Amino acid sequence: MTGTKALLNFIRDIYQSTGPIPLHAPQFNDAEKTSLLACLDSTFVSSVGPFVDQFEQEMAVFCQSSRAVATVNGTAALQAALHLAGVGQGDIVITQALTFVATCNAVHFLGATPAFVDVSPISLGLCPDALQQFLTEQCGKNSAGNTVLRSTGQKIGAVVPKHTFGHPVQLDEIVAICSEWQLPLIEDAAESLGSFYRGQHTGTFGRFGALSFNGNKIITTGGGGMVLCQQIEDGVHCKHVTTTAKVAHPYQFFHDEVAFNFRLPNLNAALGCAQLTKLPSYLANKRALAGLYQSFLQDSDYQFVAEPAYAKSNYWLNAVICADEQQQQQLLKHSNDHGIMTRPVWELMHHLPMYKDCPRGSLSHSEWLTKRLVNLPSSVAPGIQP
Ligand SMILES: *Cc1c(COP(=O)(O)O)cnc(C)c1O
Repeated sequence: MTGTKALLNFIRDIYQSTGPIPLHAPQFNDAEKTSLLACLDSTFVSSVGPFVDQFEQEMAVFCQSSRAVATVNGTAALQAALHLAGVGQGDIVITQALTFVATCNAVHFLGATPAFVDVSPISLGLCPDALQQFLTEQCGKNSAGNTVLRSTGQKIGAVVPKHTFGHPVQLDEIVAICSEWQLPLIEDAAESLGSFYRGQHTGTFGRFGALSFNGNKIITTGGGGMVLCQQIEDGVHCKHVTTTAKVAHPYQFFHDEVAFNFRLPNLNAALGCAQLTKLPSYLANKRALAGLYQSFLQDSDYQFVAEPAYAKSNYWLNAVICADEQQQQQLLKHSNDHGIMTRPVWELMHHLPMYKDCPRGSLSHSEWLTKRLVNLPSSVAPGIQP
């Protein structure tokens, strides 16, 4: 049996380090420095510039998205997407309880309320059966034909699944349920840049998808995000509404709607352009790392979380499921005491004070996972040859 000690030694071998090992650290070399210096030399460091356009175009090509609009962070990308999908005051947005808090905060700041459904054991993301059950048991159609929460009459504004740790959710099933109930689908693809569902990039299955380039994501712009838009008109409107809705003119300032200032600075986009050239090699490296973890853990008490059969995951964060809570706590304590950063999954959203009274379905699998799941160090490891 592979014990905790052997696992920690294995991690030290991979990262060839006796010092602290972070959960996920970015990597830079001359490519980033050259790009950033070029940006500084141009003096276009702020809200417009050629790196922003280049980053958006290259990201649209990589994801095969009709349009990609850069934003100041992933939370802003989600908020813009939800706003453009028509989510507003008093609406309900169905998402998963097992997510990072940004998903819910984006909903809240539009005056809407998140509702929580369970995650699937296959993907650790939104479970299609749990979604259908919530809609059937707690929702219905009102006289105007909108899908509403029966207990309050609030309109269901959108469904927001999240691709947990980069593993794609069961999109065919979720797309079908959203179309049956006529609900906009917005994918929180913040963790899944480079993850594909049956060959198609995550974040392009619904009307909108949101990416994040925070420092701990697979590539980083320092802080940054992207809205993936599948309809050209949505892309045009998204750019407009994230850039103060200024009507283009050489010198006049006229704005034709209330809008956000969610622009990604050119300086951050310069970093993003350099990082994007490395994405294919990062993906290969992380896939190899996941393979090493998986074979090392084969005969252990720890169950490695592998990509679903239908998907190619970016393996953003590797994870294991422990036999029980005691083993989970022991692994967390032992590794962190020894300078190897591991962590449990985020506290479930309905356990947080501001979201404790939100509508929800059964969350039994989410609760089960929080008592067992541990994320392992997952940075690109230079010593690994894919
Ligand atoms: C990282 C992340 C975001 C966005 O985070 P930002 O820090 O705002 O870029 C949103 N949702 C999930 C699930 C995330 O992991």
